[in-house]
Amino acid sequence: MAQPPTPDRRHLVLVVEDEPAIADLVVLHLQHAGFATHVERDGAAAVEAVARHTPAVVILDIGLPGQDGIEVCRALRSAGDWTPVLFLTARDDHVDRVVGLELGADDYITKPFSPRELVARVQAVLRRSRPLHPDAELLRSGAVECDLAGRRVLVDGAEVPFTATEFDLLTHLITTPGRVFTRPQLLQAAWGEDALLTLAGERTVDVHVAQVRAKLALTR
Ligand code: CA
Repeated sequence: MAQPPTPDRRHLVLVVEDEPAIADLVVLHLQHAGFATHVERDGAAAVEAVARHTPAVVILDIGLPGQDGIEVCRALRSAGDWTPVLFLTARDDHVDRVVGLELGADDYITKPFSPRELVARVQAVLRRSRPLHPDAELLRSGAVECDLAGRRVLVDGAEVPFTATEFDLLTHLITTPGRVFTRPQLLQAAWGEDALLTLAGERTVDVHVAQVRAKLALTR
C-alpha cells in the first residue's frame, strides 16, 4: 500500500465548529498529523476566513448557529470558491449527506469519528485536489475538455465547476471510454489507495456520478 502523502505546513485546514470540545479534538489530531489549523465558530466568520486565509481544506460542521454549514458551502460555491469542503455531520443524518454532496462538498465525516479516519479523509481530499499531471494537458471527449493541470472542466468552451472528487471520476471515465465500471472500481479510481480508509459507502459513488452527469447535461 502506498504511503499517505506527507502533511505539509503549507496545508492549512480551516475548522468550522461551534462546539469547543469537538473543535479542540479535531485541531489536536490535525496538528499531530502535521497540519496547520485555524478555527472559526460560526458561518459568517467561516466565509471570511476562507477568503482571508485560503485554506487547503475546510472542515465544516453542518450544525452551526446562524448561518449553518450548508449555507456556508452554498455561499462559497456561488461565489466561485471551490476550496475542498469536508462536512461534519451528525450520525445517520442521511439527508444532510446527500445535500452536502450535491452542494459541491468533497466528502463528509460522521460524528463521532476516529482520529485516523479524520486525518485519512483530509489527506485524501488534499491528494484529490492536486494537479493530476504537472505538465499541462487537455483531455477531450466530444464537447467536454478536462484541463488536467488546472483541474478545470470546459463544456463547449465554457467552464463548469467540478469538485475534486467529481473531476477525478470524470477524467477516469474519459480516459477509459467504453468500459463499464463497478462501484468499487470507481471508488478506487477517485479515492485511490485511501479507498478502504475513507470508504463512505458505494452510495457516495452514485451521488458523485449523478452530479457529474447532471453538470454535463445542464450545459447542453
Ligand atoms: Ca455544531
